[in-house]
Amino acid sequence: MAKSGFSPKSNGKYSENGNGHGHDSDGRDHEGNGAAHEHAINVNVHGETELDAQLRDEEFLNRFELNFPEVDREVIMTAVRNILFAVGEDPDREGLLATPKRVAGAYAELLSGYRMDPAEVINNAVFDVEYDDMVIVRDIEYFSLCEHHMLPFMGHAHVAYIPGERVIGLSKIPRIVDMFSRRLQVQERLTRQIAEFIETVLGAKGVAVMMDGVHMCSMMRGVGKLHSGMSTSAFLGAFKTDRTLRQEFMAHVQRAGGDKSMM
Ligand SMILES: [Zn+2]
Repeated sequence: MAKSGFSPKSNGKYSENGNGHGHDSDGRDHEGNGAAHEHAINVNVHGETELDAQLRDEEFLNRFELNFPEVDREVIMTAVRNILFAVGEDPDREGLLATPKRVAGAYAELLSGYRMDPAEVINNAVFDVEYDDMVIVRDIEYFSLCEHHMLPFMGHAHVAYIPGERVIGLSKIPRIVDMFSRRLQVQERLTRQIAEFIETVLGAKGVAVMMDGVHMCSMMRGVGKLHSGMSTSAFLGAFKTDRTLRQEFMAHVQRAGGDKSMM
């Protein structure tokens, strides 16, 4: 279930503040990717059960809206059929016959973020570490649905954190972005939830998330280009209090061409 659908492509770079042993991440999931980091940072595989228990704790799941029931496809199919009637269409014509079923499947996939198991998303890729330089993953492509119109918005996320208790395999950051974007969202909340999740799970000293987004509800409806492109950010911990750190992050993002990603 968590594997369904498109997977955002990431051109993320692992930056270690210029100390010269950074390495690329192509954003794909590598099984057992812990080994890949061992030469760079002194890691120990984190006790799986303790963290998994935290990630499956009911309070935690509620806080991050992660325990929604299964999508009721039958109800969606009926509703879509009604919408087709309501707009004057004939739901029984050939081209539309399978549409309610397809739409139900699409929503199950596009809204799968509410039902992901965070322990599985993170999948043992969290390590204890003594390391406190900024880790940054840039240009993570995301797709979401705006909660006001249920129309897509999409763009790129740039995520950075200062490790506290733990670090996470780089390929997991795009999966965390997925988990929160495959929902009904507003871009501001999406940005904030990604930051808070990383802060909480990693015990990070600071988290920065910047997202740009283009919103189909503005672009397609002729509301004007006014609000079609927007940028949001969330700064927690050290990124909130330390202006230099924040500027360093912004410089990284701009070097990645964060602005050109605005369509
Ligand atoms: Zn909207």
